[in-house]
Amino acid sequence: MKLKHVLTTCVYCGCGCGIHLVCDGEKVIGSYPSGNHPVSNGALCVKGWNIYEFINKSDRLTNPLIKENGVFKEAKWEKALSLTASRLKEISEKYGPDSVAFLSSAKTTNEENYLMMKLSRAVFKTNNVDHCARLCHASTVVGLAATFGSGAMTNSIDEFEEAEVFLVTGSDTTAQHPLIGSRIVNSVLEKNAKLIVIDPRKIELSKYAQVYCAQKNGTDVAWINGMMNVIITEDLQDKEYIKERVDEFEALKELVREYTPEKVEEITSIPKEKLIEAARIYAKAKKAMIVYAMGITQHTTGVDNVKSLANLAMLSGHVGFDCTGVNPLRGQNNVQGACDMGALSNVFSGYQKVVDEAARKKFEKAWGVENLPDKVGLTVTEIIDGAATGKIKGLYIVGENPVISDPDSTHVRKALENLEFLAVQDIFMTDTSEYADVVLAGASFAEKDGTFTNTERRCERIRKAIDCVGTSKADWEIICEIAKRCGYDGMNYSHPSEIMDEIAAVTPIYGGMAYDRLDPWGLQWPCPDKAHPGTKFLHKGKFSKGKGTFMPCAYKPPAELPDKEYDFTLSTGRVYWHWHTGTLTRRTSTLEREAPEAYVEMHPENAEKLKVRTGSLVKVTSRRGSIDIKVKVTEEVVKDSVFIPFHFKEAAANVLTNPAVDPVAKIPEYKVCAVKVEKI
Ligand code: SF4
Repeated sequence: MKLKHVLTTCVYCGCGCGIHLVCDGEKVIGSYPSGNHPVSNGALCVKGWNIYEFINKSDRLTNPLIKENGVFKEAKWEKALSLTASRLKEISEKYGPDSVAFLSSAKTTNEENYLMMKLSRAVFKTNNVDHCARLCHASTVVGLAATFGSGAMTNSIDEFEEAEVFLVTGSDTTAQHPLIGSRIVNSVLEKNAKLIVIDPRKIELSKYAQVYCAQKNGTDVAWINGMMNVIITEDLQDKEYIKERVDEFEALKELVREYTPEKVEEITSIPKEKLIEAARIYAKAKKAMIVYAMGITQHTTGVDNVKSLANLAMLSGHVGFDCTGVNPLRGQNNVQGACDMGALSNVFSGYQKVVDEAARKKFEKAWGVENLPDKVGLTVTEIIDGAATGKIKGLYIVGENPVISDPDSTHVRKALENLEFLAVQDIFMTDTSEYADVVLAGASFAEKDGTFTNTERRCERIRKAIDCVGTSKADWEIICEIAKRCGYDGMNYSHPSEIMDEIAAVTPIYGGMAYDRLDPWGLQWPCPDKAHPGTKFLHKGKFSKGKGTFMPCAYKPPAELPDKEYDFTLSTGRVYWHWHTGTLTRRTSTLEREAPEAYVEMHPENAEKLKVRTGSLVKVTSRRGSIDIKVKVTEEVVKDSVFIPFHFKEAAANVLTNPAVDPVAKIPEYKVCAVKVEKI
């Protein structure tokens, strides 16, 4: 039998590795790395090597389902599509356009995200469209846009190989972005790069760090201000850079004055000598990279945390050069692209604001519609709250699983139960689709064409390797069919490349993108025209918005701190072996074998006090609920803190988490809440 080898892009993390799928004509039977891809470069992590397994799992959704008397029954596409379109339309007409909402997905393609926001805005006339970036990097989009003018990673992944200093904070890089983590480790071991790690957990990278500090959860603004205090006190700031390129230095200087190393030690537990050493190493370097992820963004002060890191980088002149910048590592494969495509409540594709009349007129003309909505819509958490209170009556979710991924799962379940109509589109049944009236069977990444945009702004192709399983359809086709049944004829495409042509026409940062230009390794935005080669690093010569702005932020404590009753601080996150809500990785035998069940990490001193050991069962309780879970005793967490990975629905960490959000980015505080732990 002649096997087919199809080059595509990994569907897990934001590294966006190039992967070959091996197909026997009907099924995908293997995967291996692309030898020349600029990120994977002949390597993959364990998730990429095993990516083929979930594609052909026997419990894939092969037909649409309609719930009748509480039981799902297989249905014909025509019935499922017409029912979805008519129920959403009826609700919109009865209660008004803002009574329906749309959750798009960081797992689907750029083209599909663009269509979801087009469906929401052009067909249903609501800006109630959002996706899970709200839960991971909304703070980055807001914080970096305010300080630099662009809310994206400033540099490229291959630039990690030549940086002199890395400041890694709130990112378990080797576990979550393994191909970036390995570049950092190689730079330290082979090129003598210096590594500073500031993280409440003793992550793998801390073993390679010249300076490692564990700060108290939720005290990031304080230590970052402390580093800037040291830099200014020791006159290490880049005066020429600041004069030429950044405004508001005096305001920053004034604010950080009070964050002396002594005061910062009191707030954060970071020893003052270490803070001073870290500040000196970072400020004196020529090529320094800040690397961060959700440990920074998922706080009620997420935007302040991001702005503070941007301040630190600008103070030291470390933005706008090769191997030098601020690098938020995007979580899911296409979370960057879903944001770029405007699957957000406040912007069209390319971050063109819905409140800007000129932008609305432009999209009205391109889409052949009138009166696009001019008010910012509801975000993910607001949509769920709206469903709970009855403000949102109809919801269409594509490729998301909020019952497991959103904070306070009990509240999410009640909210979904309260809807008049819910349609969920996915490739497997999930805890969320159980609440649906209609389940639409989507296609996996191996069964469709499209593009993903990775964390370094690289828009790259995915390619159809096999036919759709059963009667399932590509998400872009399903969305177009719903639009058609709502009476809109502006979504007729015969191939995703035509959608990309439309995206390029209305989205300046994607203006030069077209499928024939994306072979083989894609293009990095901004790529404004068809002759443009793409952009390796941002802010060269000047910031995207002209001059950068220092935005000083004062330290504010997290929304919920431990007290006498709830005496531990809980933080949540991911493990190397699994991805997000586990829908794909928990169907992959190698990954499930390595990490088959949930656990709570606990410091040995706390374990001794509670008289528990690794494997003991405990009850972890917050003000929102409780779960029973096994203990893993480890020094990777600091005393009086516990950590739970959120992949496992049988002990779902998000039953416990606090839905309090950052006031601007509306991102929930997944990284800090108060819990108690009791031996069972
Ligand atoms: Fe690469 Fe990330 Fe996929 Fe691993 S999960 S193969 S690092 S893209």
